[in-house]
Amino acid sequence: MNTFTACPEQARTVRNGTAVDTPNSKTVRGTVVHEVIEMVLNGRLADDELTLESAVEYFHISWDNHKETVVKWLDGPELTRDVGLASLRAWYLEVFPWLNPLRVEQSFEFVLCENESRRISLYGTRDLDEEDLTWDWKTGRHEPPWEMRRNAIQPTVYTLARAHERGDLESDQNFRFCYLANGEVEIIDVVRTPNDWAALVPLCNSIADLIEARLPSWPLRYDGWQCSDWCPNWGACRGKYLGVGAKPANW
Ligand code: SF4
Repeated sequence: MNTFTACPEQARTVRNGTAVDTPNSKTVRGTVVHEVIEMVLNGRLADDELTLESAVEYFHISWDNHKETVVKWLDGPELTRDVGLASLRAWYLEVFPWLNPLRVEQSFEFVLCENESRRISLYGTRDLDEEDLTWDWKTGRHEPPWEMRRNAIQPTVYTLARAHERGDLESDQNFRFCYLANGEVEIIDVVRTPNDWAALVPLCNSIADLIEARLPSWPLRYDGWQCSDWCPNWGACRGKYLGVGAKPANW
């Protein structure tokens, strides 16, 4: 759904396999940071805390295991690794001390709506559940916080999953983005309400209408930062006109 929000045509081509996401150095670095954070949190859950030195050691092991999967290097390997390490250190020192994990990497699936012709299920994996808060670690860039608080889809879906699990669809739920970039932590808190969850139904139905219509293309969205050679469909879409492999002349 995040991809659909960024660009419907990108979501269509990723879904039908004509656009294939190639791992770049930033996404692989994000995977490694996530993996080590998960390990540290599981340590706390098991009453077996990892020191910062151990976490850093695991980071190096995980980085060595993953770096060969990078297809596109956006920065050099050493800079990429060091930025990841700085993010992990910042998280360990500034966020981890105050966490009380309930569940880590919790998968969910629930039925959003159902009628005689269609059933829509939503699924995903939450990075961290605390008693009254759902956390998500991010290592990329983000939209302005006010826009995320208003429009981000991920918190709406993830908090609704928790509301289902609690059997309480009447109370607001809290979600927290924790952005880790260049050794700094940025927190963006989001609240989702029963009205936000109700508004998810027509959105998902509109996506289902598009899927079922079997159109040869879906709306193209040229105005997001993803509409660049970050998009796995760039070469078959806007990149056909603006060029592939180098920045368009006037960007
Ligand atoms: S190139 Fe732009 S418009 Fe085309 S699929 Fe990608 S994001 Fe969408």
